Amino acid sequence: MSDGDNQKLFEQACQLIPGGVNSPVRAFGSVGGTPRFISRAEGCRIFDIEGKEYIDFVGSWGPMILGHAHPLILDAIADTLKDGTSFGAPTVAEVELASLIVEMVPSAEMVRLVSSGTEATMSALRLARGITGRDLCIKFEGCYHGHGDSFLVAAGSGAATHGNPSSPGVPAGTATLTSVVPYNDLEAVQTVMKTDGDNVAAIIVEPIAGNMGCVLPTPGFLEGLRDLCTQFGSLLIFDEVMTGFRVDPGGAQGLLEIEPDITTLGKIVGGGMPMGVICGPSQLMENFSPTGTIYQAGTLSGNPLSVAAGIALLTQLRDCADEIYPALEAKGKQLQDGWQRALDGHGVAHCWNRVGSMFGLFFTEGPVNNFSDASGADEQMFRRFFHGLLASGVAIAPSPFEAGFLSMAHSEQDIDHTTSIIEKLNL
Ligand SMILES: *Cc1c(COP(=O)(O)O)cnc(C)c1O
Repeated sequence: MSDGDNQKLFEQACQLIPGGVNSPVRAFGSVGGTPRFISRAEGCRIFDIEGKEYIDFVGSWGPMILGHAHPLILDAIADTLKDGTSFGAPTVAEVELASLIVEMVPSAEMVRLVSSGTEATMSALRLARGITGRDLCIKFEGCYHGHGDSFLVAAGSGAATHGNPSSPGVPAGTATLTSVVPYNDLEAVQTVMKTDGDNVAAIIVEPIAGNMGCVLPTPGFLEGLRDLCTQFGSLLIFDEVMTGFRVDPGGAQGLLEIEPDITTLGKIVGGGMPMGVICGPSQLMENFSPTGTIYQAGTLSGNPLSVAAGIALLTQLRDCADEIYPALEAKGKQLQDGWQRALDGHGVAHCWNRVGSMFGLFFTEGPVNNFSDASGADEQMFRRFFHGLLASGVAIAPSPFEAGFLSMAHSEQDIDHTTSIIEKLNL
């Protein structure tokens, strides 16, 4: 536990793990510097191997809505652990979790559990393709749906509606099946649907985007997608891996009152353990094997420890919703007001998008309604802001294209403390 331990371990890690990390954004690629190796976390704080502590606004990228190492979740996992870690057979708890999800998520009648958000979106798209007998899908620039081939696609050039691979290894033939259009651009979707609508299996969207910073749907956008899908017989997939149980107990669909056909969940639903979910009306979900013919499977799906953590977290969010969600909104507002005031004091151009405890801060005049707006933000300013905060004991995501998260464990004093740090930054 001494200064330099992070750097030493990172160098060793880079010999053993590509880039020293098991998920690329952890590598500080867009801000430079050495990632901190975390030894433990509690409440709103994380602690690194050098013994330094940070007020954390990453929250493991979303799941930690009650704060880190919450006793309810630790106890649920510990109680379950005594009985074994995996059976590869059905359990009582899976049924309990499915019933909680059906109760909370408006469009869910039936649930399939998987082990990650990526798995959920891949299976959701297969379900949509299998049901409609069509191959095409539409996604939005700046929305992230995990690392499945069909989603690692960039817009084609010019007026082309067919996408190109955005990563080597994604077959060009797979990428041509995905059209990529700008977020909040209903007209662009209409144009694709006019030519290709009868071949579109699904439109997949983050109903409140969180992977280009936080970007809100403009009025009429999601309603328009709903209408187009109904009109052309395509299925609307809401990827609520980030927004599920975060923006409302019923996710973005509960908050905005728009029903998708298929929903994917992740992050919060596993209470910080690996889990993903595909859910929707029974009539659609029963097309999955074994009732239906669309193949979907997983050795560790419905893992008892993940399910126990998910039940503990969702139960708390359901039972205390009237207390939790207004409190998260108040914390979000306090943070935004304070940070805005501090940044105004520096004369720095900035723009905010926020829904409750999920926020996007962009170093640009704004507004930010799509990926191109978000890309216009000042990257150098973000780097100075990020490293200034980190050096003062505040951790935000090491990329300007990530949302920030508050938890119930962030106190008024914690938030005020971060504001006073920003006031003193040298931007
Ligand atoms: C995080 C995320 C995913 C991918 O989930 P993993 O568990 O990382 O595979 C998919 N969609 C959205 C909207 C996400 O935020």
